[in-house]
Parts: sequence; structure tokens; C-alpha cells
Amino acid sequence: MTMNSHPVTGAQAPADRRHRVVIIGSGFGGLAAARALDKADVDVTLVARTGHHLFQPLLYQVATGILSVGEIAPSTRLVLRDQENATVALGEVDRIDVTARTVHATAGHVDFELEYDSLVVAAGANQSYFGNDHFERWAPGMKSIDDALELRSRIMGCFEQAEVTEDEAERRRLLTFVVVGAGPTGVEMAGQIAELAQRTLKNSFRRIDPGRARIILIDAAPSVLPPFGPKLGNAARRRLEELGVEIQLNAMVTDVDYSGIEVKDPDGSLRRIDSTCKIWSAGVQASPLGQMLADQTSAEVDRAGRVLVNPDLSLPGHPEIFVIGDMINLDNLPGVSPVAIQGGKYVAKQIVREVEGGRSPSERPPFKYFDKGSMATVSRYSAVAKIGPLELHGFLAWVLWLVVHLAFLIGFRNRVITLLSWGLHIGDHRSHLNSTARWVYARQAIAEAQERERRDADRAVSD
Ligand SMILES: Cc1cc2nc3c(=O)[nH]c(=O)nc-3n(C[C@H](O)[C@H](O)[C@H](O)COP(=O)(O)OP(=O)(O)OC[C@H]3O[C@@H](n4cnc5c(N)ncnc54)[C@H](O)[C@@H]3O)c2cc1C
Repeated sequence: MTMNSHPVTGAQAPADRRHRVVIIGSGFGGLAAARALDKADVDVTLVARTGHHLFQPLLYQVATGILSVGEIAPSTRLVLRDQENATVALGEVDRIDVTARTVHATAGHVDFELEYDSLVVAAGANQSYFGNDHFERWAPGMKSIDDALELRSRIMGCFEQAEVTEDEAERRRLLTFVVVGAGPTGVEMAGQIAELAQRTLKNSFRRIDPGRARIILIDAAPSVLPPFGPKLGNAARRRLEELGVEIQLNAMVTDVDYSGIEVKDPDGSLRRIDSTCKIWSAGVQASPLGQMLADQTSAEVDRAGRVLVNPDLSLPGHPEIFVIGDMINLDNLPGVSPVAIQGGKYVAKQIVREVEGGRSPSERPPFKYFDKGSMATVSRYSAVAKIGPLELHGFLAWVLWLVVHLAFLIGFRNRVITLLSWGLHIGDHRSHLNSTARWVYARQAIAEAQERERRDADRAVSD
């Protein structure tokens, strides 16, 4: 998939062919940019490492059996099927050459190169373990469908093993769930595991009472949901405590292993929590593509790997390269989907103005984010919402959350099915609690296979 390159300044279109826009990422930012270029006189190629657009805010519902994968992850190819100027390519981008204006990607054993006149980099962020990447094996995060399915299997696997073990200490460890990070994802996960244990799984085991599972939400910060402020943070905390979730604040996780975690309290003392199922939702690190761009330009990245972009979301000295969404550091904008969506629409508009209207990049207005507010669910019927000065919690906030999330889900069919699944959930039913041995043990098996491959390769070199 290689095309001829015509270096241009900014987004100026060459005369002999259409302007080529390459978008990296099919998340909120990338997809918004691609869709906003519908009808534009440009050729769009969207390349992403997954074939779907992922609605990350509802991943926790897949991890806890309320929704199925298809409801939150429509095929990007089908979403863009009717957009004639758009081509979708599955591929992991591993190289961007800002001088040659090319993007290199691999799909399995196939690799290919894309040439661009304008580049939109929307590769998002990954989980951050703050330099302790080895924690990931025992405390997976929740960033992808693989993560959610693996977590679902780990959670269900713990209940199943607790039912059959004869060892009381082992049973306690299996029935202790630790969620690290009291931000929106951690709060949602802790609340949902509590509801799963106490309501959905009630009376479904014979030897254990799932309702007696211990669910611990732990954070090094002094409050729950810090960005929502003390009023909403305390409301969420109270609701979680009503559900039986233990909240441990000012507690820093210092180690994670197969059978538990080590925690440092404010007085410096260390303690251990025995737990088989640990879930990490404590920080994010922007895609390494940001650093790759910084290495080739005068752009800088912050400690979280986010690119310090110009006010028009472009890179210094490279008006043809835009970075959007979770990858940017601009005006303290938060890592939330509206920032990515609005960024995607904004850059598409600039490209159209310059390609079709002959405008120059120097005429771009700065990107302005319109903050519509933020919300997080705590449990069934309970959420928190902050919309400007308005702070809501409880049922009303939950209804608002429901309407907003439904409205943003892509595709009419997905909305209807999701609504049905939520309807069933209100009656305590969860249709998607299945887990397979491959999901439960996949990460371990892959790590072991990679280790074997590495050893074989080392042996081949030394022979
Ligand atoms: C569990 C969870 C819950 C959340 N809840 C909320 C919420 O309630 N409200 C809210 O507003 N925000 C929420 N967020 C944040 C929100 O999802 C992000 O801010 C948003 O997804 C950012 O959009 P993006 O386009 O920058 O990146 P993403 O949506 O993450 O998309 C990144 C894309 O890049 C692709 N990609 C990455 N690296 C490569 C590569 N090397 N090559 C090719 N493709 C690549 C990925 O496959 C993906 O398609 C949540 C996030 C998570 C993880």
C-alpha cells in the first residue's frame, strides 16, 4: 500500500492528485476526524491496531458481564463503509518518518507503508505502572477488549476456584478483589464487582457465599474521584461503602505478585493484602508514538509521554502533523473522550479549509475545548455528574449518565441492544459472564511462550 509522495507545505494540496490524510487510531479522536472528512476532497486512510472502534467508558461493563463486546466495539470498517473517500487499514504503526512523510505499519507478517500530506496521530494512551511494568502480569489494567475479557475471566475464575478449594486461606485470597486507583474506572469496577457478588451471583454457589467477597478500592491519593471535587467524591465513597467496598486511601501500592499486593501506609509501614484478583486503574501513559514524533521534531513530551502541541494541535515546525486526544498536553485538558472527539473534528475542519479553501496554516484559529461536564457511575441507579457549577449524584445523575452514554454509542442497533442489556441488568441478570480457560490464563501463556521463544533464539545464537 505505497503511494507516491509529494512534499507540500502545511496542508496545501498538490495539483495532480487528491490530498492524502493518514489517521493513526480508530478511537474517539481518529474516528471523529475520519467522519468529519466525509465529503471532503481528500483521500483518508485510517490505520489502527484493532479492527474496531472501542467505546472505552463501557469497558467495565464487559469486564463484569453486563454488556457483550459487540455492543461497545463496532467494526471500524463497517462504520466507515459508506464513506467513499475513506480506507481502513489494520496495522500496528511502528515508524513515522516526518521527513519522508511516511507511516510504516505491520499487520501480522505483512508490513506496509502509507504516505501522507496531512497526518493525524490519535493513538491514545496505555495503562501506566509508574515504572513497575512487572505489576501488569498480576494486576492487568483495562484499556482494551482483551483486558476486559481477561478481567472478566479472572473475576469469575476466582469465584469458581473459591467454590472448590478446601483450603480456607486460599478461599479468602480468592474472594479478595483489589482495585488499585480510585478514579472513575476504579470506582466503576469496585461498584460492579460488589453488585455482581451480592446480587447477580447470589444463591448460585453451594459452598461459598459470593456476597461475602471482600472488595478493596485502594489509592495513594487522599480522596475518591479527585477531579469531581470533595462533594461528589464523598457521595461516591458513601455509596461504595454501603455496597460493602472497603476504601483505603493514602495507601501506596509498592509491590504486586501472584498472591497479593504490598501497601505502604502514610506512617511508612508496609502491609500485605492477600488477593488473587488485582485490577490496575491507577494511571496512564500516552502512546510511544508521541516520543517518536518528538525525537524527530522540536516537540517535547511530558512525563506521561504526552506531546506539547501548538494551540492548533499541530507539532512545532510541522503544520501537516496533528496530534489529538489522550496523546496531547495542552492547557491542562483532561484525558477524556470529548477532548479527543472535538480535537478530531477541529483538525478535520482545518484540513478542509486549507485543501478546499486555500487557507494557510497560519490562519488557523486555536483549538477551543467545550467542556460539557463529566460523569461516572458508582453502582446501579447511582452516579456522579459535574456539569459546570452543577454537581449531581444519585439516581438523577445515573439517568443522565445512561442517556449520554447511549447517545454516544455508535450505531442504532448497538444502542437498542445495549438498552436491552441494561434492562436485563436492572433485573439482576448479566448475560455475559462466560469465561474460557484461554481467557483466564492467556496472558500467562503468552508470556511463557515469548520467554520460550527468547530462550530458543538465545540458544540458536550461542550454538
Ligand atoms: C476504562 C476507561 C474508562 C473511561 N471512561 C471515560 C468516561 O467515562 N468518559 C470519558 O469522557 N472518557 C473516559 N475514558 C477516556 C477516554 O476513553 C479517552 O479519553 C479516549 O478514548 C481518548 O481517545 P483517543 O482517540 O485519544 O484514544 P483511544 O480512544 O484510546 O484510541 C486510540 C486508538 O489508537 C490505536 N493505536 C494505538 N497505538 C497504535 C499503534 N501503534 N498503531 C496503530 N494504532 C494504534 C488504538 O487501537 C485505538 O484505536 C475512559 C478510558 C478508559 C480506559
